[in-house]
Amino acid sequence: MKIKKIISLLTTINIYNLPIKKSQSYASNIYSEKYIRDQEEPFRSNSYFGSSDKDYEYKSGNIPILISAPHTVKQLRKNEYKKADIYTGALVKILHQSTGAHIIYKTSTNGDENYTIDETKYRKKVKEIVKKNNIKVVIDLHGMASDKDSDIDIGTGNASNTNLLGQSYILSLVVGSLNNVNYTVNKFFTGGGPKTMSTYCSKKLGVPTLQLEINRKYRSSDSTNFSFIANKLTKMINELVN
Ligand SMILES: [Zn+2]
Repeated sequence: MKIKKIISLLTTINIYNLPIKKSQSYASNIYSEKYIRDQEEPFRSNSYFGSSDKDYEYKSGNIPILISAPHTVKQLRKNEYKKADIYTGALVKILHQSTGAHIIYKTSTNGDENYTIDETKYRKKVKEIVKKNNIKVVIDLHGMASDKDSDIDIGTGNASNTNLLGQSYILSLVVGSLNNVNYTVNKFFTGGGPKTMSTYCSKKLGVPTLQLEINRKYRSSDSTNFSFIANKLTKMINELVN
């Protein structure tokens, strides 16, 4: 118990000392169970309906990559509530710290940003961030169930990577960074439908966009599993920037 507490404290100190600037390449951070849970708390409170009056939260970064997490809380699709992609909220906040990427995520339940053709408040903000910061790649972060035989399913729109807008080398870079990860490409979710964030960002905003679906196995406060995926995604983003 005591040792756990010390490790947790050290991790917390380490995290607060992390530079917001480009992270040290391939550093392996161990995030404590408590730290991960604390990051997820604002989403989990109020049964994942969100507890904020605000529709979304945006945190400005210093690299030309935007990570969007539209399912951090429950969504309303066709008058039915859909489950949140739990721990994508904790993950996106930690990736902001570890990479300096711009991030945007939902803080209240209304509609479904990944199932609409409307230019919602969230999408308008994404548009503004992209324009203002000359964003080169958007990553739309999601979660898939644990029965999927994949750690990360990478969605590029379709087999010809339509959402990468001719820049298929982005997929090669991403795949290259995922050594010892059991990834798949467009196996379960392509992000290619007309109502997705990926389609909005690529077709409407002209930015190559990847949809990443993270297996539930890595989306909990389990320190080992969560840290593993957070470090892999940090490496992926660092390599995209370089
Ligand atoms: Zn989702």
